[in-house]
Amino acid sequence: MNDVSPLVDAAVPGLPTATVVLKPKRARPFFGRHPWVLDSAVAKVEGGPADGDVVDLTTHDGHFVARGLWNSQSRIRVRLYAFDAATKLDDALWRGRIAAAVALRRSLGLDDRTGAARLVNSEGDDLSGLIVDRYGEYLAVQVTALAMAVRLETICDALDAEVAPRGILLRGAERGLAKLEGLALADRLIRGTAPSGPIFVVEHGLKFGVDLAEGQKTGYYLDQRDNRQAAARHARGRRVLDMFCYSGGFAVACAVSGGARSVLAIDTSEKAAALARANAGLNGAANVTVEAVDAFEKLDALAAAGERFGMIVLDPPKFARSRAAVDDALRAYHRINRVAVGLLEPGGILVTCSCSGSVTRDHFHQMLSGVAQRAGRSIQILESRGAAADHPVSVSCLEGEYLTCVIARVP
Ligand code: SAH
Repeated sequence: MNDVSPLVDAAVPGLPTATVVLKPKRARPFFGRHPWVLDSAVAKVEGGPADGDVVDLTTHDGHFVARGLWNSQSRIRVRLYAFDAATKLDDALWRGRIAAAVALRRSLGLDDRTGAARLVNSEGDDLSGLIVDRYGEYLAVQVTALAMAVRLETICDALDAEVAPRGILLRGAERGLAKLEGLALADRLIRGTAPSGPIFVVEHGLKFGVDLAEGQKTGYYLDQRDNRQAAARHARGRRVLDMFCYSGGFAVACAVSGGARSVLAIDTSEKAAALARANAGLNGAANVTVEAVDAFEKLDALAAAGERFGMIVLDPPKFARSRAAVDDALRAYHRINRVAVGLLEPGGILVTCSCSGSVTRDHFHQMLSGVAQRAGRSIQILESRGAAADHPVSVSCLEGEYLTCVIARVP
């Protein structure tokens, strides 16, 4: 117990140790409650805050704007957590925010101990830099900000109090992100016990094995939970292709909930393919075939062979890692969607996703318009969806809205 990060300081104070002064005319986003103060907006720092300390943010002429946590190693110099001077950033605040986040999931009906849900979604729960996913009796915590890393013990106490998990596992932040924050966190068990192998969670009545220790993200793609069911509603009797299937979420939903005729699921990772096969078996879906091959090559091979599908799911990894990469990403999305449309029989269903935050929903719809033009076929958007409700997005930080899932019909 309590074997947490060496960064932990039990006596992290809740009141500011320094003042961060903004450049003139740079305060507006923060009056608008945006939580990220970039280094380029900062004029000077009064006092010598240590990384993770509480600081006050002021305008260039000394007016209070907000209160946040300092990190000299990140381009996000200050993450803001309160917009009034009366709120202390102390343990009680973190506990209260975590309790509120957990209560929201309870009200969404996502507190079933056999299921899985995102309990804390960073800015969406006013806890910038903290992600907590619950898989049955276990929690996977991901910290993407040093400010949260130094408060891990308080966070775990709050999670213990709110959900009493069997174990809390720390999953390292995405490598790039961790480097940006100056974080060095290895994956490890931080509270309780770890599961001895994969665990099983129920999603909309389907069972999925999740590898908490080694799986992608924190083990599973919870954000697509409701999109899998939405896709499955169109699958009846169809031949389905699930591209970038990971552990087979869409494939199993289409086969079992949706009544697809057959499903071909593709992922380049052998591990993912094995998980998908196991998950198909677990749900008695004998008509799911999984191949561990490259999706781009497979799409071309299927097209060359003149294959046709009644439904195609495209859920690729993030194509755009930054704003500068948006054009390249849109070209890549265009390419796979163009090939997929060519593989669809008349009246076929295209379920096409982007988890690139810098590719907006508008960009994505425009990309599909380009595909329709090139393919010489209409594309009807039936639904344009986002992440499930346990992934709330703060209107003050729309950067948190990263997932687009379009369900379209191609006449
Ligand atoms: N649809 C999945 C999530 C997909 S995540 C779900 O519902 O859970 C994206 C997946 O794409 C990852 O599993 C990754 O292994 C896979 N991937 C990445 N590059 C690939 C490629 N070139 N060909 C096939 N799969 C690829």
